[in-house]
Amino acid sequence: MSATRVLVLNSGSSSVKYQLLDMRDSSRLAAGLVERIGEETSRLRHTPLASGGETRESLGPVADHEAALKAVAEELSRDGLGLDSPELAAIGHRVVHGGRTFTEPTVIDDTVLAEIERLIPLAPLHNPANLTGIRTARALRPDLPQVAVFDTAFHTTMPESAARYAIDVATADEHRIRRYGFHGTSHAYVSRATARLLGKAPEDVNVIVLHLGNGASASAVRGGTCVDTSMGLTPLEGLVMGTRSGDIDPAVIFHLARVGGMSIDEIDTLLNKKSGLIGLCGDNDMREIRRRIDAGDEEAKLAFDIYIHRLKKYIGAYYAVLGRVDAIAFTAGVGENASEVREAAVAGLETLGLAVDGALNAVRGDEPRLVSPADARVKVAVVPTDEELEIATQAYALVKK
Ligand code: AMP
Repeated sequence: MSATRVLVLNSGSSSVKYQLLDMRDSSRLAAGLVERIGEETSRLRHTPLASGGETRESLGPVADHEAALKAVAEELSRDGLGLDSPELAAIGHRVVHGGRTFTEPTVIDDTVLAEIERLIPLAPLHNPANLTGIRTARALRPDLPQVAVFDTAFHTTMPESAARYAIDVATADEHRIRRYGFHGTSHAYVSRATARLLGKAPEDVNVIVLHLGNGASASAVRGGTCVDTSMGLTPLEGLVMGTRSGDIDPAVIFHLARVGGMSIDEIDTLLNKKSGLIGLCGDNDMREIRRRIDAGDEEAKLAFDIYIHRLKKYIGAYYAVLGRVDAIAFTAGVGENASEVREAAVAGLETLGLAVDGALNAVRGDEPRLVSPADARVKVAVVPTDEELEIATQAYALVKK
């Protein structure tokens, strides 16, 4: 029997998320998470989905990523799904920054590792953690293909007019400053799934994808190819997010430094961790914000209105970029669940052919679905994202014999 399983690893600075999939039917055999790596209170949660078993939890210190991956390997072995299984075809790694180098998923060798390392200055928090995950997995199974799937890759098709900032070219080139975009795996998956929902080929469909999670980004996808996205050099640009400001006048930074006396690190923390919804109203969870609005809370209402205003501006901008829009797809935690956000985002845009059907929009579900009226010129879709499946699919396509 040929190997058909792919282990997907998403290694963060203090966590490792994983899923084991069988690519014959895209089913999930196991999934789990190691959190608080390097602390006394680390926790591993493992769910053996294939056997329908209970989630197992183990607490206690997990020193580093190597120890974390070994613990994951042990849990998988207990279910007969160990890393030594001949049915394992590849390990797919989420890598946040692929710069301009990596436009596609890539089988990892020493040269690829060196290039991901060279890109660390562009993603100082993420790429080192991703690299640690790759090195550890390679040490455990040196013979197995390891595939890097980059968050930036889907956006490398953006034209220069969208990817370049209007700053001095020599300075930009020297420091590799341009708009890279992130969440690419999700934008790729959701734009294709939206085309499928419309019964069309991706090449025939123009879609605006709104990935609204704790981090949030929009993309304009023409015929399956990304032509613009809202995140830039880093995931700070664009939409209002859970804790990030999104777009602001860059002069705010000079002002905070010169007049406010803040250091660059303090401003970095302010804009990345203490802004967005949490900065505006003290909560970053849309459920809590909606609950507060329902209770008459003005601060939460203003935070929601600012979030929606920005979202609407991006819908309008990407409508203009694409010229013709077939669908708008909402995805991720907020996009998939918050019907109020979908309704408010397209309210008043009837002349653009955009509307939601109240009853359809209120229905909850795990499947891709349309929430626009049957005769809508532009379809509004809710398409649950599945980054792990996309990473596994891309990795498997590269390695299957
Ligand atoms: P993600 O980053 O995709 O996991 O999304 C996480 C965010 O989704 C949370 O911070 C919440 O704001 C939001 N979210 C999750 N479930 C719901 C829900 N049922 N209603 C509204 N927002 C939700």
